[in-house]
Amino acid sequence: MEVAENCSVKVAVHIRPLIGDERTQGCKECVTVTKGKPQVQIGTHSFTFDHVYGSGASPSTSMFEECVASLVDGLFQGYNATVLAYGQTGSGKTYTMGTAIKNGSETGLIPQVMNSLFKKIETLKHQIEFQLHVSFIEILKEEVRDLLDSEPVSKPTAPSGNAIKTTVPGRPPIQIRESSNGVITLAGSTDVAVSTLQEMAACLEQGSVNRATGSTNMNNQSSRSHAIFTITLEQMQKVQLVSAVNDPLDEDMGEEYLCAKLHLVDLAGSERAKRTGSDGVRLKEGIHINRGLLALGNVISALGDEKKRKEGVHVPYRDSKLTRLLQDSLGGNSKTVMIACISPADINAEESLNTLKYANRAR
Ligand code: ADP
Ligand code: MG
Repeated sequence: MEVAENCSVKVAVHIRPLIGDERTQGCKECVTVTKGKPQVQIGTHSFTFDHVYGSGASPSTSMFEECVASLVDGLFQGYNATVLAYGQTGSGKTYTMGTAIKNGSETGLIPQVMNSLFKKIETLKHQIEFQLHVSFIEILKEEVRDLLDSEPVSKPTAPSGNAIKTTVPGRPPIQIRESSNGVITLAGSTDVAVSTLQEMAACLEQGSVNRATGSTNMNNQSSRSHAIFTITLEQMQKVQLVSAVNDPLDEDMGEEYLCAKLHLVDLAGSERAKRTGSDGVRLKEGIHINRGLLALGNVISALGDEKKRKEGVHVPYRDSKLTRLLQDSLGGNSKTVMIACISPADINAEESLNTLKYANRAR
């Protein structure tokens, strides 16, 4: 089945190779790819996507070139975009996005986005003035945490037995705001102005380190949080005003301004939270993360369904912080790419199937 070109959501599947752990456990590969087609089989199930990478998929041009390069180009035309990595913990989301700390991989999508962005700016900077900002946040338990905040996170003070409540020092919580023209902004998060590739890469690294070592990271909570690296590109171009076009002596110049952002999202692990045991905390986290992934699935499926879209069906952006934050960069004129990451190992077959089903809803 061909995919309509105007469809705003593209879905690619990435099957990573078997890794050390799986090999030592004697796992077998249970995922196959149809030769020459973007089609994946697992058990008796078969799914077709826009692209399939890894595990026997015919080596083609890179995932970046096929799925993401056009989103970077779109930024220069003022279009917002979102790239989402979805999948169970250990399926390769962080590896694919390139949000790992010093994995040395120049092949991750974010490093490639940064390279192509700065190359393009280099060729245009004589005509256009550019301004770049980055932010890097994490959503955990429906709370937004700043990964670029250099101030230490203040710990809540222990209750003193005193009836008077003391305010906990530290910054107020980050809030998601929507302007009257539908632009979503984060109030209270660090927005770093960067002018070189090195500066941007340093932000990516600092945030990745903070994500892995932050105070909320006990019990590997990074697998339960969504990490969102956002690049905002502003362009100012001097243009001759229409009034001056017919009069060569009139030097009235105006400014054309464009602003667009690209969200690069390393989503929380999609595996179901363990509901057994007495660990009430874990249960709560599971529910919250499911809220983000659930809402995202509903939003993307509503966007992908042209019939529903024409009927003006409600898109449930407000159901989670994640979809609220991405609201102006999912659907409408913006472009969205979902990379569904799966392990090929038979022990992960059930989760891989769940991931393919979720991704299939998006198209
Ligand atoms: P996730 O972020 O989904 O939890 P990771 O990106 O951390 O998963 O990947 C889990 C493990 O698999 C890591 O050890 C990583 O190095 C390895 N891995 C992931 N993708 C690939 C790949 N394409 N090739 C080789 N190893 C990979
Ligand atoms: Mg990860």
